[in-house]
Amino acid sequence: MIKKIAILSAAVFTALALYACAPGEHTSDFFAMDTYMSVKTYGVDAAETVKGEAERLESLFSVTDDVSEIGILNANGRVEASDETIELIERALYISGMTDGALDITVYPAVRAWGFTTGEYAVPSPEKIEELRSLIDCTKVTVDGNTVSVPDGYMVDLGAVAKGYLGDRVRDILKNAGITSAIADLGGSIVTVGGKPDGSPWRVAIRDPNGDGSVGVIEVKDKCVVTSGGYERYFTDENGVKRWHIIDPATAEPADAGLLSATVVGEDGVLCDGLSTALFVMGAEKAEAMWRKEGGFEMILVTKTGDVLVTDGIIDSFSLSEGSPYELKVIG
Ligand code: ADP
Ligand code: MG
Repeated sequence: MIKKIAILSAAVFTALALYACAPGEHTSDFFAMDTYMSVKTYGVDAAETVKGEAERLESLFSVTDDVSEIGILNANGRVEASDETIELIERALYISGMTDGALDITVYPAVRAWGFTTGEYAVPSPEKIEELRSLIDCTKVTVDGNTVSVPDGYMVDLGAVAKGYLGDRVRDILKNAGITSAIADLGGSIVTVGGKPDGSPWRVAIRDPNGDGSVGVIEVKDKCVVTSGGYERYFTDENGVKRWHIIDPATAEPADAGLLSATVVGEDGVLCDGLSTALFVMGAEKAEAMWRKEGGFEMILVTKTGDVLVTDGIIDSFSLSEGSPYELKVIG
């Protein structure tokens, strides 16, 4: 009898222990930074914290909020900014140098004139384009301690790096909460903590810029996967040409360097986000040259001519979708 009870209680104890250890899955979707976001964690539910962090950073970086630090800078040409805003501006300026100006945080006058902030899309006149071009040059942004200033008419937009910054913060928050398995999609900026609870990698689909499906899947652990493309925010002009929200700083017009999307895979969210935007502006050839020169990141480029170019550091983790019309090519 005693033996039976002992066996029974051992079984109950084991079941309880298993239950307590079995990590519960928590998923949540929300809207922040002008985009849909989703978070999946195991063990601890961190959705509210992540959402709160997105809202906190939005209140610093938003271009449409007059009282955000960037809003104040754009209205007054000057702001006393938080350490975080300073850090993000300085990192964006560094990436600008690295990409030969393809990333430029002073594109905002152009982004606005083309209507990407308001949704009132319009092709600016040639004179206006000329004027917009003269207002894009991030080497004119001055950072002195915590004071940021720009010349008259210049405006800053951190949209190309903000979600990557959020990704880095979210990863730190999740790890500090003891979470070892999580994935967050912060509007095209994906951050992963560890792998899936069973130890296998997270599978991140790369969207087909020409359709609803995906061009392929990349398997990652503890990495960021950030995609920039022309398929999310765009309008079609009177000549039937798609005009999207990524601006070539050299022309003040939507970038058109032969890519449909650029994905960057790496450990640093800000770098991945900044580079994904920059690579889209640069096109495949310059992107490849920079990858060889700088290293520290991997990329997946989808070209207008139907190629999917993948760098050799991640080729073993990438698989093209079944029946895909795209051709897979390795950059090595
Ligand atoms: P998304 O934020 O749509 O996922 P990106 O990270 O590529 O994609 O950021 C695009 C945003 O960055 C645009 O909406 C605009 O605000 C800004 N932007 C556009 N072109 C550039 C550029 N060449 N350099 C820096 N920022 C840019
Ligand atoms: Mg970006």
